[in-house]
Amino acid sequence: MDEIISQLWTPELQMALTVFIVFLVVLYVLSIVWVVRDAYLRGTFWYIWAIVALVPLLGVIAYCLLRPPLLQIDRDEQELEVALKQRQLMQYGECANCGYPVEADYVLCPNCHQRLKNQCAKCGHALDPSWTVCPYCATPVGGAAPRGARTTGRPQQQPARQTAMAARADAAGQAQGARRPQ
Ligand SMILES: [Zn+2]
Ligand SMILES: [Zn+2]
Repeated sequence: MDEIISQLWTPELQMALTVFIVFLVVLYVLSIVWVVRDAYLRGTFWYIWAIVALVPLLGVIAYCLLRPPLLQIDRDEQELEVALKQRQLMQYGECANCGYPVEADYVLCPNCHQRLKNQCAKCGHALDPSWTVCPYCATPVGGAAPRGARTTGRPQQQPARQTAMAARADAAGQAQGARRPQ
């Protein structure tokens, strides 16, 4: 029996086994490096995962199962994209009267001629009815809306004033717009 083992235990086999063990050790070290680096990039607690990764094989498998799905840089980009979309959406609204999509600087609804905004007397920019000053040229806006009307939804503001204006906006809207200084 011993003879058979000693016959099999050739220098070639020893060499192969050594290479195999070195290979495993390198793989083990690389797996730890990978887990630490990946956990760091994903913005998670990489030092905790480094300890978990010290458990051979199981640590890496656990990390692969439980790691956060997104890289930190992707997450930042996604948040930025959402913020950008929200900003873009803020520039659009819909007419409170007919629901037609209108842009932030529309003074009248192009569909039903409902008055949506006031116009700055000096520079002609469309102003939110709740603003007390023109943000483009710093001209104070006369007859600003009461502070209570300050809400987020632009088109819903001042329903009483809008309905009153809607009555004559239809007839006088275009003439009024043409008369105003640009
Ligand atoms: Zn409308
Ligand atoms: Zn102005």
